[in-house]
Amino acid sequence: ESKRAGKNQLSFYNSAMQEQALLSIRLEEELRQALAHEEFALAFQPIIDLSNGQTVKFEALLRWQHPVRGIQYPGSFIEIAEQTGLIVPMGYWVIEAAGDFIQQQMQAGLMVKPVAVNLSVCQLREPDFAERVDALLKRRKIAPHLLELEITESMLMENVELAMTLIADLRRLGIRIAIDDFGTGYSSLSQLRLVPVDILKIDRSFVMNLESNPVDRQMVEAITVMVHKLGLKVVAEGIETVEQLWFLKSIGCDYGQGFLLARPLVPEQALQYPGYADLALSKSAPRDNKTC
Ligand code: C2E
Ligand code: MG
Ligand code: MG
Ligand code: MG
Repeated sequence: ESKRAGKNQLSFYNSAMQEQALLSIRLEEELRQALAHEEFALAFQPIIDLSNGQTVKFEALLRWQHPVRGIQYPGSFIEIAEQTGLIVPMGYWVIEAAGDFIQQQMQAGLMVKPVAVNLSVCQLREPDFAERVDALLKRRKIAPHLLELEITESMLMENVELAMTLIADLRRLGIRIAIDDFGTGYSSLSQLRLVPVDILKIDRSFVMNLESNPVDRQMVEAITVMVHKLGLKVVAEGIETVEQLWFLKSIGCDYGQGFLLARPLVPEQALQYPGYADLALSKSAPRDNKTC
């Protein structure tokens, strides 16, 4: 009896695994098609100067217009793209598309704002990555400081040696580097000291709990002080409430990103986004901020 149950269980797992494998293969094929048929697009989320509400730059976020399933977010396809190595050509597509958006700003006669692009670990391993990005920018006559590359803290810490060399090369070219999702990757201060970057982005998981968790408030404040002492700028990710916003303002956090300030936008909307008006009007945080 129990033997039979065990057997059934085994075949169940086998078929579940088989199904998973088939889904992955199908997704991989679909991603290949997507790349060939221009089904990818970028959304641009404004990053706001918390002292005046102005947009200082944008983060490019990958979207996939699937012909049947509709819009797909990175959470549903980046992992497979990484496992199959497809993320490498996709990553170059993203940088080209970010370049298109920078050139659109130029053509509109606007003060051009930088665009931040997320990198995957596979891209760190490309031996000619810095060279190719440099060539891409030169070909498009885009100043290197207009491109910022985001590397997650965990990606960085799992590949310190590799990342350090690449970051140094990219920064030598004038490209800015941000550490993304900071606070989730267990970097030690000594490792952080070795990796020269320009910007540090505090992970949404800290911002989310600012109202409820005094420890997170202290952490975010301490990170901000440390970042400033190192001469870098800090961005808080995932700001959704005015209480979070006012707290971040009160501790001197430089920039913010989040649905409260602005959603990820299609390029035409992003070009016209005026900024977050509430911050332009008030120079300081309101006295009454009990919740934070
Ligand atoms: P990330 O780099 O940390 O990007 C921020 C994510 O948080 C985005 O999700 C954005 O839409 C979301 N977000 C922004 N503000 C808020 C908020 O107030 N509340 C909440 N709940 N979420 C907010 P998205 O676009 O789904 O991207 C998820 C992740 O996928 C990104 O996290 C990044 O790690 C990765 N990703 C996105 N685009 C690319 C890409 O072109 N290449 C690679 N390799 N990874 C990408
Ligand atoms: Mg990012
Ligand atoms: Mg992030
Ligand atoms: Mg993230």
